Amino acid sequence: NTVRREAIRAINNYSFETTIDFKNSSSIDLFGDNVFSISIMKKRLPKDIFKKVSKTIEEGTRLDPSVADVVASAMKDWALDNGATHYAHVFFPLTGLTAEKHDSFLMPDLAGNAIAEFSGSTLIQGEPDASSFPNGGLRETFEARGYTAWDVTSPAYIMENPNGATLCIPTAFVSWTGEALDKKTPILRSMQALNTQAQRILRLFGDDSNKIVNSTCGAEQEYFLIDRNFVTARPDLLTAGRTLFGAPAPKGQEFDDHYFGAIPDRVLAYMCEVERELCKLGIPVKTRHNEVAPSQFEVAPVFETANLATDHQQLVMVTLRKVARKYGLTCLLHEKPFSGINGSGKHVNYSFGNASQGNLLDPGDTPHENAQFLVFCAAVIRGVHKYAKLLRAVAATAGNDHRLGANEAPPAIISIFLGDQLTDVFKQIKNGDATSSKGGGTLNIGVDSLPNLPKDAGDRNRTSPFAFTGNRFEFRAVGSAQSVSGPLVAMNTIFADSIDYIATELERRTGGDGAKLNDAVKEVIKEIVDAHGEVIFNGDGYTDAWQEEAAKRGLPNLKTTPDALPTLMDDDIVELFSRFNVLSKAELESRTEIYLEQYNLKIAVEAKTSIKMADTQIYPAAVAHQAMLADSCLKLRELGLPCDDESLTRITTLSAELRAASANLKALIAKEHADTLAESKHCCDKIIPAMGELRAVADAIEEMVADEFWPLPTYQEMLFVK
Ligand code: ADP
Ligand code: MG
Repeated sequence: NTVRREAIRAINNYSFETTIDFKNSSSIDLFGDNVFSISIMKKRLPKDIFKKVSKTIEEGTRLDPSVADVVASAMKDWALDNGATHYAHVFFPLTGLTAEKHDSFLMPDLAGNAIAEFSGSTLIQGEPDASSFPNGGLRETFEARGYTAWDVTSPAYIMENPNGATLCIPTAFVSWTGEALDKKTPILRSMQALNTQAQRILRLFGDDSNKIVNSTCGAEQEYFLIDRNFVTARPDLLTAGRTLFGAPAPKGQEFDDHYFGAIPDRVLAYMCEVERELCKLGIPVKTRHNEVAPSQFEVAPVFETANLATDHQQLVMVTLRKVARKYGLTCLLHEKPFSGINGSGKHVNYSFGNASQGNLLDPGDTPHENAQFLVFCAAVIRGVHKYAKLLRAVAATAGNDHRLGANEAPPAIISIFLGDQLTDVFKQIKNGDATSSKGGGTLNIGVDSLPNLPKDAGDRNRTSPFAFTGNRFEFRAVGSAQSVSGPLVAMNTIFADSIDYIATELERRTGGDGAKLNDAVKEVIKEIVDAHGEVIFNGDGYTDAWQEEAAKRGLPNLKTTPDALPTLMDDDIVELFSRFNVLSKAELESRTEIYLEQYNLKIAVEAKTSIKMADTQIYPAAVAHQAMLADSCLKLRELGLPCDDESLTRITTLSAELRAASANLKALIAKEHADTLAESKHCCDKIIPAMGELRAVADAIEEMVADEFWPLPTYQEMLFVK
């Protein structure tokens, strides 16, 4: 087959050239060069204006409109100095993608010339024609207006392209009634909620600094890199981002030879350029390595505040995709591009802290910090247990269903891994008083008498969806293609709720008497462990035994997106989000609707692509093979020689089965549905299994069809030809 041959030939002849002098301009030196950062603002803004802007950034207060013109003018000058011709309000619609509309600075004057113009009001607010973004019923079609509003806490930056540059302004995207149409607004609201509640605990422990408590996020991004020549020869990779067909390669990941192995040159060159681009944007990329599956890799930044990390994470995904092209590669962010080998996730490392205390989920060195740490840790335990279904729902996508609830890490059951030592501490509190620690020594849950807690959580557990890793939690259920916004909003809000609960209990029990704090802390933590300790699980999350045990413990096990997403509308979830002003009922409703719709659309595209490939590529290959065998059988029989009836019969049967399976799938996608949820269930219960049946037949055909007839790049080629 020529397409395949051509692809392999092209790859064998591939050589890449890099025009960048990496030796003489290091990424570290370029860090933040394209960012309108605090230090640039300090240089370019009048002192009083700079003060007002930094106050806004630090305290999250509203920007004084009178300063906007000055800031806009400085920003414009800086952008022009850096080659920008356009500006764009960048926003994050509910599709999970990044949206931008570019406007030129150009403004003609009466004399027939043009000047560059950018006013404060254009900086602060935009009004993109947003009617084509999904709003899940939040906007009537006749009122298509959506507004973008500058998020001062996320700095503006310049995106270069080969022929110019654009000043990008991170914005929130809201309807004219103020409802959030995007993924940024709820992040900002949830961070506020968490801060308010965490301050109460800090005050009880004697921190009156009022320093803002911010949640922090470091997201590890897994991805696959596949040669573009192969991708363009695979309609499934092009339209669905994953292979819908493909027999397993003779060699998979069983040798464990890819993980942390030497990174191939082309890939390393690609990574260097990705990192360079990200550094210019002020994104602190830190780690890169091979992942478990062949052709799978990971990049991770140093953590930042949740809001900034979310914007930056979007830029990481955009950049990974963009730069790949230059190296003849395609970056696949899908959660499961290839069956039979590992999929990709996005581990969201999460904590919260403030300027006076640092990381509040760090056990710390002194007893005082320990007690405070245990309070926050207990809040996490309560939150994860109480709202396990929410944590599952925010990771529910068509792609991620191949990981969660399938045979891959982590399971759909949300539990917490605490590690032996910390589990032991909580167990002792539960059983009365904590008097000893596993490492020896005496332990007492008093503010004055706690020994050091272990900094290292001991052995690592790779199967837990929510793991304590020494000074933070790692939420591992998030899918590789997802925005981290939803997961962060969920965590901020459920922990705000738990911290609120604990603060209220402590305030009530101490009645303002600091001397009673020790006992009150002890009591409240004990009650939380009693009520919510069932969510702690340090064992192997992949086993059937855990599935049974989790069911006994009453932990939800929502295996698919249509199971998980509707829980967003459960009374307790609606109440939670409205109580903290993070999402109104209408906003939640629109999200549920849009995410279900996205699921349906994705599955529909997959089904249509499956049918097309089966009918126009795989079936003809089977027929060609069948004709070849039939020809040979005829001739052999004429000569009175034995012929291979068995193969001929098998390919004939498989061809018929393929047509039947394709027809079945066609009939299933033609069905009409009462509502979005009914359609999702149909996708999940009928269409996905039918695609599976079609694939099974097609893969069996691939196993027997002559190589020269097979039209699709194989798993072996895609994963191993470099
Ligand atoms: P591993 O692969 O062992 O899980 P990595 O080094 O790849 O670890 O990633 C760990 C991530 O956790 C990094 O992005 C790191 O910045 C982040 N991280 C560390 N401390 C915090 C914190 N306090 N809050 C949020 N993220 C953190
Ligand atoms: Mg990790």
